[in-house]
Order: sequence, then C-alpha cells, then structure tokens
Amino acid sequence: MNMKKYLECGCIYGKTTSLRIEVDVADPIWCDKCSYNLEMEELPLSNQLTSEINDWVALYEQSVDWESDSQMWFDDKLAEKINQKGIEITKRVKKELAVTPFLVTYKPV
Ligand SMILES: [Zn+2]
Repeated sequence: MNMKKYLECGCIYGKTTSLRIEVDVADPIWCDKCSYNLEMEELPLSNQLTSEINDWVALYEQSVDWESDSQMWFDDKLAEKINQKGIEITKRVKKELAVTPFLVTYKPV
C-alpha cells in the first residue's frame, strides 16, 4: 500500500500531518491547524477501528436535536461516555499511525 505522508487541507501549503479527533456529524478527523474536515478513509486505519469510529459518531448523532437548528444538548453522562470512547479511539489511532508522520490529538465534546 502506498503510505500517505500527509493529507490535503486548507493550510497555506495545502497539506497537514497534524490531526485532531473531534466528533461531529461528519468524519471526526480534522486538520488541527486549519480545522479542515479530512477524509477518514485516506488514513491507513484498520477496518475494525474504522467501524468503531463510525459507531462512536452514531452515538454522538443520537445527541443531536435535528428538530432545532443544529442545537445540541448533552447530558453529562452521555458526554462522559463519548469522551471515554473518544480517548480510547485516539490512543488506537495513534498506535495505528505510529509508523506515519501523523500527529494525533483529541478534543473532548
Ligand atoms: Zn490544515
């Protein structure tokens, strides 16, 4: 497999290796510098981890109130559950990207 050394984003040089994991209704991977939403499938992540990330996004989506214009409401317990899973996912993403130049940070909800 051709290993990606960066992803394209909105930064001045159009590329990044600084990733931020922050759950949203899109793919939860962003450029940490310009907040460009990145394509998760461009990263060499395992199918298992990708599917767990998708489940994590689905859990978050349950908290979105679709009726009222992107107003989100978090119950403390749900936020804690989302963050616990988010931290675990971030550790595993770091492990799977350990041989790549990507740096990964987690931003809690
Ligand atoms: Zn960027």
